[in-house]
Amino acid sequence: MQVLKFGGTSVGSVESIRQVIEIIDKHRQNGDQITVVFSAMGGITNQLIEIGRMAISGEPDYMELVRRIEDRHFNIVKALIPVKEQGKVVAHVRGIVNELEDLLRGVSLIRELTPRTHDLITSFGERLSTTVITECVRSRGIPAQFCDARQFIKTDAQFGHAEVNYTLTNALIQDHFAKNSDRPGAAIQMITGFIGSTEKNETTTLGRGGSDYTASIIGAALNADIIDIWTDVDGMMTADPRKVPNAFNIPTITYAEAMELSHFGAKVIYPPSLQPAFAQNIPVRVLNTFNPTHEGTVVSRTADRRQYTITGISSIDDIALVNLQGSGMIGVAGVSAKLFGVLAAHKISVILISQASSEHSICFAIDPRGAEDVKAILDAEFAIEIEQGHIDSVAIERDLSVIATVGEGMKKSSGIAGKLFSVLGKNGVNIVAVAQGSSEINISVVINRNNLSKALNALHNIFFQSEARVLNLYLVGIGLIGKTLLKQIFDQSEFLRSEKLLKVCVVGMTNTKKMVLDPQGISLNNWYDRLLTEGVTTSLPAFVEKIKDYNLPNSVFIDCTSDKDIVQFYESLLDANISVVTPNKVANSGPYSEYRRLQRTALNRGVKFLYETNVGAGLPIINTVQGLITSGDRFLKIEAILSGTLSFIFNTFKPGISFADVVREAKEKGYTEPDPRDDLSGQDVARKILILAREAGFPLEPDDVTITNMLPASCLLAPTIPAFFDELERNNDYFESLLSEAEANGEKLRFIASFENGKATIGLRPVGPEHPFYQLTGADNIVSFTTERYKDRPLVVKGPGAGAEVTASGVFADVVSIGSYLA
Ligand code: ADP
Ligand code: ASP
Ligand code: MG
Repeated sequence: MQVLKFGGTSVGSVESIRQVIEIIDKHRQNGDQITVVFSAMGGITNQLIEIGRMAISGEPDYMELVRRIEDRHFNIVKALIPVKEQGKVVAHVRGIVNELEDLLRGVSLIRELTPRTHDLITSFGERLSTTVITECVRSRGIPAQFCDARQFIKTDAQFGHAEVNYTLTNALIQDHFAKNSDRPGAAIQMITGFIGSTEKNETTTLGRGGSDYTASIIGAALNADIIDIWTDVDGMMTADPRKVPNAFNIPTITYAEAMELSHFGAKVIYPPSLQPAFAQNIPVRVLNTFNPTHEGTVVSRTADRRQYTITGISSIDDIALVNLQGSGMIGVAGVSAKLFGVLAAHKISVILISQASSEHSICFAIDPRGAEDVKAILDAEFAIEIEQGHIDSVAIERDLSVIATVGEGMKKSSGIAGKLFSVLGKNGVNIVAVAQGSSEINISVVINRNNLSKALNALHNIFFQSEARVLNLYLVGIGLIGKTLLKQIFDQSEFLRSEKLLKVCVVGMTNTKKMVLDPQGISLNNWYDRLLTEGVTTSLPAFVEKIKDYNLPNSVFIDCTSDKDIVQFYESLLDANISVVTPNKVANSGPYSEYRRLQRTALNRGVKFLYETNVGAGLPIINTVQGLITSGDRFLKIEAILSGTLSFIFNTFKPGISFADVVREAKEKGYTEPDPRDDLSGQDVARKILILAREAGFPLEPDDVTITNMLPASCLLAPTIPAFFDELERNNDYFESLLSEAEANGEKLRFIASFENGKATIGLRPVGPEHPFYQLTGADNIVSFTTERYKDRPLVVKGPGAGAEVTASGVFADVVSIGSYLA
């Protein structure tokens, strides 16, 4: 014998009921002996509860809702039953709905809805669905018989979640099946899930999701070979697929694990429903009605060996934490006995308990809907202790969630809690309380509800690593560098995924005009089209707000602009545990206190603020300084050529060529800023040497950098760019004399930034062949570090220090380094 159960989603529409009939028919053709249990059509139980509420509060519209329920069932009849048979079935459905209407009229008149009536109202969902589906199956020529479970599932009178009297129930079920099913060709029993009845034949329900329970009770009573729970997902997954898109199927799982997982919010199986199957050692399979060939999940005593230490992660989205604390609790026996005694007496179910070994406080999690009642109960129960000051008043904290990592594999393995806390910490998720069951197959943490999705996804990523870890990127600035970066990410994404287990996902992007954000990720195939078609007018504050709202794990904000206005958001982003990567020098070259604050915030939050490309584009300059400093070296001197533009100009400036023409060429080649004076004035170089000195451990302010101006005043003061070029022409003799003087001494002109004895200076200097900067060609940068360890021969970094490709690749490398830091 095989018991099949179809859930609300499997019987929610014409299409899905067609699937269900196919599955039943296939079993029949195989000659299997089956019994089938049905839930109400998806959503109907909730509607019935709502209708009850409306009726009792005298809202007349409840009849409208009843009509809608009736119509949904009529639609099934019309679609799946031949016309000539429809009348009889429609009349039957009408009859059941009439009974419901009479009941509701009574409720509405006396304005009273007892738990007993509530259960009676909700029983109509399963009664209607099972009636209609039985007729659909029969009209296909399959012998089937409607069977109301109230005739054999006998319970106590705890309406809402009644306890089963197994002795009576098992005997009645066995008797029913002996009479109706134990002969060849007997009709398939089509049974209403979820409902039972008391000894006085009052209708009861087995708890929300209780149709699973019905299937298990019947399976156990009949000693079935297997119980198949047909639902809308491919079995039990490593997490709720609606919350964790990367979740995947668990092929085999033990009863204990499945119970822990489903107890903690994974709805797939209603937790008590596993007990009867477990007791009889009957395997339970979870299968997908919409993908019937998938093997789903088998729940049994043992599970196959697994690749992962944990089996799954689940959550309860909304809980309240009750905290009882006070010095009077220390060492006093019986406080917890009293506490849990009174909770049990009031039938309050406790989700999780945590007590520190100091015994100074006990906290426990409950359904938030009961929180006020619990507080009142405890205030009354501990009134004397509170009055005497032994216990502080009872405190309730709301808007919390519990996350549980579950798995038998955790028993034998250490470091899981450490991993769990470290991932949550890195993502800025504060842990409010922790509990580990002594069975060691469940570690639970309580966190703020608004962090739930981030925490679930981050944990899933770390514990199920065959799936790549995800980095979520937000890009501001889609100019030359930004575009190049997007292309590099696109080209490299496959490699990163397969070799580094890193999935780089661009979640938001904005230029000065438009912005687009999508938490599912923006495909880099056609990002420009999306920006154009879906983009909305750019607002940086709105962009940043969205980033914080999404609250995605492992988020990185990339600023590919040189904008002053964006920098003001860095601190709040870092503070929200979002890493920042940028070639933008503004933040690091302002007041020292601001530079310091960003560093501190990143450190405190455990996120990264990376800006390798602030100096020398993709050349490893900042990383080199940081590496030396962290390993204990001390800087004596830094000398550098930090402007590719100025390198080009002074490498091209030869006798016979006018200086103005050289600058013009540099401008035409795109090497200069739109106003070449921004380069020639040395301002940009000043920022870079300032940042280098700071990285080397010196708290320099911008004013501490002395620039020896190389441009005559008339050039600097020229009102327009053409006028500036005219002034350069007019001053050609001056530039030529600088050049010829240097050449006469066998030297070359170099625009050098240096830092020594706490002072930074910048200016044009002639250098001879013995100097390492003499040989520099083209637009290259060069930096020479003299330190305690590199004293005799300085450490030199040299290479192209400008250009979109190398800058973007430096930014990219910073981003990827954040990915490996997450590992
Ligand atoms: P049914 O109507 O078939 O009883 P339920 O809604 O009770 O279906 O349970 C199925 C749903 O459980 C899935 O649609 C899925 O979103 C949710 N779910 C939560 N956690 C898990 C998990 N770990 N594995 C699979 N599904 C899960
Ligand atoms: N229809 C009931 C509910 O929605 C029982 C079930 O679906 O299992 O809770
Ligand atoms: Mg269910």
